[in-house]
Amino acid sequence: MPPTVTLSPRGEQRLRGGHPWIYRSDVTEASATAGDVVLVRNGRGRTLGSALYSDRSQIAVRMLTYGDRVADDALVTARVDAAIAFRESLGIDATAYRLVHGEADLLPSLVVDRYGDYLVVQALSQGMDRLTPTVVRALKDRLHPRGILARNDPKTRGLEGLPMQVEVLDGEVPESVTVHECGLEYDVDLRHGQKTGLFLDQRENREAAARYARGRVLDCFSYNGGFAMKLAGAAQETIAFDISEEAVARVRANALRNGLTVDARAGNVFDELRGLDRLKERFDTIVLDPPAFAKSKSAIDKAVTGYKEINLRALKLLNPGGFLVTCSCSYNVSEGMFAQIIYEAALDAEAQVTVVEKRMQGRDHPVLLGVPETYYLKCFILRKVG
Ligand code: SAH
Repeated sequence: MPPTVTLSPRGEQRLRGGHPWIYRSDVTEASATAGDVVLVRNGRGRTLGSALYSDRSQIAVRMLTYGDRVADDALVTARVDAAIAFRESLGIDATAYRLVHGEADLLPSLVVDRYGDYLVVQALSQGMDRLTPTVVRALKDRLHPRGILARNDPKTRGLEGLPMQVEVLDGEVPESVTVHECGLEYDVDLRHGQKTGLFLDQRENREAAARYARGRVLDCFSYNGGFAMKLAGAAQETIAFDISEEAVARVRANALRNGLTVDARAGNVFDELRGLDRLKERFDTIVLDPPAFAKSKSAIDKAVTGYKEINLRALKLLNPGGFLVTCSCSYNVSEGMFAQIIYEAALDAEAQVTVVEKRMQGRDHPVLLGVPETYYLKCFILRKVG
């Protein structure tokens, strides 16, 4: 008998709602070991599909197929191929972009990012960890990369009882890789950079923001300067803040190699925004792209306070007619909640604000309907009208 798990009626209901994750509390029986591809059944013995099984995570089951469709290596390979073909059809103006976005590519807990001739893979569940050799084979057959790196160091691996490690899975991966994105060149450290090296999900928002850039530009939470550089071309002056000295050094190096002038400073944005206001500094374009303030449901209240604070401060610093590009990458803060926070910030800042664009993560990071976790990045472009 193949490895099998049985779901409670509530688990079955959830599965029919289209969400691929089943929690441990909705599994009544499991005869499977860590990382198995399992048959999923209901209490009456009916096969509901195939899934990845985890014996550690609260997410015990991640659906791969529904009904009798077999989940084998051929299925995984076909899905990797389809994910790549979709990205190739998008006409992305960059050599770095996401190739596989987990659940949205029907490959739960798998991330694959492309950085030119190199690929970075993250396997974030026991099942996907076991399928990594199949994924690597598929990527090699399709793309012939010079190297494939596993960036298996996100904390979520710990919840699966998996080791955190960064290792070359195939070929060679240099210390630093040069990529292009919408007319800019970046030097990326795939082993140590945040996420898999770059915030690829903001590419289209950086481009969109550039269409409004003018006057004095302030890029808050700049990381390696993606927004700052994209906006600097149209700006009189560009200031970028990040708390990490390393990130600031990267902004400087990236600006230099692209022939742009960015005043990159190390600082805590919460303090710096207050300081700029005290000095009566004003700006025409401001970007707020903080890290996820609400990494869990319990952190929502504090996150709301944080988002409100920076949006309020930024709106105060903005000249009338100026633009605020404001982002949240916390999936625990919904679009509706984020809109409400911005509205309250505007009220407190005594600013009248219009929404010019409502955006999300780039098209290479699509959202799977019914799976709110895949809609994490919200980006509003606002104009202070009065
Ligand atoms: N805008 C970037 C991505 C930003 S990621 C891009 O487009 O690529 C968030 C950044 O915020 C990280 O680089 C982190 O170092 C920085 N950060 C976190 N807390 C901060 C704080 N309180 N003040 C300033 N920077 C902070």
